[in-house]
Amino acid sequence: MVRTYPLIGEPAALDLVNTLVRRGGPQQTDLIATDRDLARWLAARGSSVEADLAQVHKLRECLTELMDARVLGTTPSPAAIAYLNETSKGCPPEIVWAARPRLASDNIISECVSTAFALLTAPHGAIRPCAHSECTLLFAATNARRQWCSAAGCGNRARAMRHYQRSAHV
Ligand SMILES: [Zn+2]
Repeated sequence: MVRTYPLIGEPAALDLVNTLVRRGGPQQTDLIATDRDLARWLAARGSSVEADLAQVHKLRECLTELMDARVLGTTPSPAAIAYLNETSKGCPPEIVWAARPRLASDNIISECVSTAFALLTAPHGAIRPCAHSECTLLFAATNARRQWCSAAGCGNRARAMRHYQRSAHV
């Protein structure tokens, strides 16, 4: 089965958080539940460097808490902050200036850590939740007008709902 991802191509830290689809209540779908899933997801992001599943899951848990806190304006647990700081020590960023500047390592952990630092320390609003009430995906607000995780996904669902509500009132 070819697995598709609801959202990919955001900064790595958000792509990782978005692999746990937390739609509509306690039900969750983990898109990187196994080593095979993780390898597929990494390949879909254009990386062939392997990663440790347990470490990726732990980092995702930490980043989810930190990103949610940033979006909601709450304070995350000291444990989550400490975990990100501790993880960053194991992968100091190293820049390579080729056609465009990029991180030297293809390692998903260091890519997530460096993008997380950039997003979490950016002004409030840099991380935005999808405007659809049943969607919990996060994206980087590089475009001020963007409301949806994807125009084809939630954008279409919202348009269809508006259309339905209009026709129901006729
Ligand atoms: Zn959405």
